[in-house]
Amino acid sequence: MRLALQVRHRFAGLELDVDVLAPPGVTVLFGPSGSGKTTLVNAVAGLLRPDQGRIAAGDWVLMDSATRHWLPPSKRRLGYIFQEGRLFPHLTVRQNLLYGRWFAPRDAPAESLERVVDLLGIDRLLSRRPGALSGGEKQRVAIGRALLAAPRLILADEPLAALDEARKAEILPYFERLRDAVSVPILYVSHSSAEVARLATTVIALREGKVAAFGPPAQVLGDPATMGARGLVSVLSAQVVAHHGDGLSELQVAGGTIWPPRLPEEAGRDLRIRVAAKDVILSRVAPQGLSALNILRGTIREIRAAEAPNVLVTVALGDGAEAQMLMAQITRRSLDALALEPGQSCYAILKSIAVSP
Ligand code: ADP
Ligand code: MG
Repeated sequence: MRLALQVRHRFAGLELDVDVLAPPGVTVLFGPSGSGKTTLVNAVAGLLRPDQGRIAAGDWVLMDSATRHWLPPSKRRLGYIFQEGRLFPHLTVRQNLLYGRWFAPRDAPAESLERVVDLLGIDRLLSRRPGALSGGEKQRVAIGRALLAAPRLILADEPLAALDEARKAEILPYFERLRDAVSVPILYVSHSSAEVARLATTVIALREGKVAAFGPPAQVLGDPATMGARGLVSVLSAQVVAHHGDGLSELQVAGGTIWPPRLPEEAGRDLRIRVAAKDVILSRVAPQGLSALNILRGTIREIRAAEAPNVLVTVALGDGAEAQMLMAQITRRSLDALALEPGQSCYAILKSIAVSP
C-alpha cells in the first residue's frame, strides 16, 4: 500500500513542504532535530490540521484539503508506537495488548493475539504488569498493542530514542519482523542512520521542513548533500554463504567476500552491510601482507571534493546491473599519491562493517 504524503504547513519557525508517494513497507522520516518530522507525523495522526495537503494510505484518504475531507484522529485507524511504551500500569500485558482491540472496527481483519505474541516473543510476559518489564519488553508490548488495533497505518515516532544501545539492538529486530510479516505501511521517525539502514524501505530525508532526499536507503544515505561527508554510509546487499569453524561467517557481496564474526543467520539468507565512508581504505593493487580480511574489488566510478583534507571516492563493486556503490573517504594527498582516476580498477579494504538482517 502506497503512502501519499502531501503536506504544506507554516509555523513561525518552520515551513513544512512535503510531497512524496512512498512505496509499501517502512518509510523512515529522517532528519535533524527541528526539521519537521514530528509535525508531519502529527498531520498524519490528525493532531495537526495542515494549511494544505492530502494524506492517504492506498485508497484510505485521511485528509484532503482540496475536497475538505478530514478524518478525525479517532477514525484514522492508526497504530501509534511512542518513545516510551505508555502502557497502562494497572493492566497485565495481556490486557494491555487486548486494549488495542477496542479501537479496531468489528469487521477489521485483526491480527490474532497468538500471532502477535509469537511475532514479538512476549508469551512469557502475558500475566506480568508493566512495572515488572524491562524497557525493551515494554516497547515490544507497545508494538503488539498497536498491531492488535488492526491499524491501516503504523506511526512510530523515534520509538527507540529513549533506549540505550543494548536495548535498541534488542528491539530493532522486532521492527524488522514487523516490516517483513505485516502488510500495514509503517511511518517511522528516526535521526539515526543505523536505524535507517536497517529498517527503511524508503527514506524521506527532511531538512528545515523540505524533502532533501527521497528514495531507497542506499541512495539517500550515500548522498553527501543530505548526510554531510562525515556521516556518509554505504549500504551493500550480502548473502550468507557458510559458517566456518574458526568463528567467522562467509558473506557474498558484489566484488568479493566479507568475513564477519559468526552470524546467527542461516546460509542463503540476505543481509545488509553498512560501511562508513571513513572506514574504507583504497589500494590500486591487491593488498598483500595485510591482516584485513574484508577486501573487495571494484572500479572507481566518481571522485568528488569533500571537506578538506578529504575527497570522496565512489567505487562500483561488481559488474553491470549487479554493481553496488561503495563510498570511500580518503585524503586528497592519498588520492594524488595513488593517482586514482575514474575507470581504474581498485581494491577497497573495509576497516569496520555492521551487519543487519
Ligand atoms: P522534529 O520532530 O524533526 O524534531 P518538529 O516537527 O517537532 O521537529 O518541529 C519542527 C519545528 O516546527 C520546531 O522547531 C518549531 O519551530 C516548529 N513547531 C513545531 N510545532 C509547533 C507549534 N505547535 N507551534 C509553532 N511552531 C511549531
Ligand atoms: Mg520529533
